[in-house]
Amino acid sequence: PTMAHSKALLVLENFIGGKFVPCSSYIDSYNPSTGDVYCRVPDSGKEEVEAAVKAAKDAFPIWSSKSPLERSQILNKLADLIEHDLEEFAQAESKDQGKTITFARTVDIPRAVHNFRFFASSILHHVTECSEMPAMGCVHYTSRAPVGVAGLISPWNLPLYLLTWKIAPAIACGNTVVAKPSEMTSVTAWMMCKLLEKAGKSWVPPGVVNVVFGTGARAGEALVCHPDVPLISFTGSTRTAQRIVERSAPHCKRLSLELGGKNPAIIFDDADLSQCIPTTVRSSFANQGEICLCTSRIFVQRGIYSEFLKRFVAEAKKWKTGNPSDPTIDVGAVISKEHLEKVRTYVKKAQAEGARVLCGEGVDPLALPPGNQKGYFMLPTVIAEVKDESCCMQEEIFGPVTCVVAFDTEEEVIRRANGVKYGLAATVWSRNVGRVHRVAHRLQSGLVWTNCWLVRDLNLPFGGMKASGIGREGAKDSYEFFTEVKTITIKH
Ligand code: NAD
Repeated sequence: PTMAHSKALLVLENFIGGKFVPCSSYIDSYNPSTGDVYCRVPDSGKEEVEAAVKAAKDAFPIWSSKSPLERSQILNKLADLIEHDLEEFAQAESKDQGKTITFARTVDIPRAVHNFRFFASSILHHVTECSEMPAMGCVHYTSRAPVGVAGLISPWNLPLYLLTWKIAPAIACGNTVVAKPSEMTSVTAWMMCKLLEKAGKSWVPPGVVNVVFGTGARAGEALVCHPDVPLISFTGSTRTAQRIVERSAPHCKRLSLELGGKNPAIIFDDADLSQCIPTTVRSSFANQGEICLCTSRIFVQRGIYSEFLKRFVAEAKKWKTGNPSDPTIDVGAVISKEHLEKVRTYVKKAQAEGARVLCGEGVDPLALPPGNQKGYFMLPTVIAEVKDESCCMQEEIFGPVTCVVAFDTEEEVIRRANGVKYGLAATVWSRNVGRVHRVAHRLQSGLVWTNCWLVRDLNLPFGGMKASGIGREGAKDSYEFFTEVKTITIKH
């Protein structure tokens, strides 16, 4: 780019030891709804990660010795600051990620605020264990201490939401952190650093939160391989997680891995379709289908299959795709040109295999406003009659595409729902309480929602089984992950 051009771009800097530090090279970041480069993100490597880890290590003694109450007050203040700028954050998230302004305003940013408030509160309520052994004259108890410098790596689909879901518990427990957001969506993390700087040193000691921007291959791996980072909390794809496990193995690091999904919705013939259909459209297409919890395999019991399909497609067609900053729009842009191509390829493969595309991609016209012609848009797409072995039913697509198939019996649908490598979130629709419990128990899935979707209590464990992850996050689970436990025995 020319000088004049580059001046107009937003240029991010790393936040290390409480200061903004420029980087020697940068990556272009695109606005997915226009296809334009609008921001430059530091392309950090070993050197920058080294500086950030050092700052975090230096800050650890002071931060870890603060009381939970002191740390809690700081987390609450950070929540207030983000909330105060909620609209600015929402606009930035929508522009950077392609998601609708409505989703950013109502889900992403409020949840980021809530993540800080939630852990500010929950950190005050943990108690450790105690066990007496009178015959031996002994009492045992456990104590918990922060681990040290936590490495936090997050994806592009829910940028600030997922990053703060890691930063909040990590610092609440007394760790200091080096965070690396996705190189495709770094802006809101940088804005959060601006707030930390604005809040001042006396308030959050420099080095408690460090953010290093860059790619997974350079900045991410440098963090994963750093000997002074004993734990890594990662959310992203299963493939990247495999690489992280491999690269961190020489250091035997503590890992929390939140990965992909291929989530089934099971709809029995006694389901309340007036609730089920709009919720399943939402669970398929919310955030352009770019949520790890999105439904992508819908199993419908034979007796209601054709009625379901008709009503489901009609409902999906009501979702408006277009300029994400228009508050009436339901589906924004997908993250990148490459990702859009990948998602489209799945639809083409399904067609080649003989499946039917009932609406969306290649079937309905997509009219975009003049400013969005080069954006990465795709209509909500429903595919029927896909074989269970098809890549569309086995692989995570992570876009606005969902497959609908018929089933006959409970036994059969459990087997088919479990017949993928993933195990993150499942949805069951039935009015039969006994059946709901039975099916929920037998599904290989870290989360099962019945007659609803995405209703979360942050107190309870979140995470997946099989290729969807290792470990859980939540009030107690995150506390356990971000602290080291010790058993102490006293003989009296
Ligand atoms: P990704 O794995 O490509 O990247 C995630 C993060 O890891 C990014 O910050 C990236 O830069 C970094 N990274 C990439 N290679 C790395 C390496 N070798 N070492 C260290 N870091 C590396 O994932 P993505 O495409 O950004 O996100 C989409 C994926 O995330 C989907 O599979 C989705 O299901 C998953 N996801 C899971 C959850 C969950 O809670 N289970 C939530 C959201 C997204």
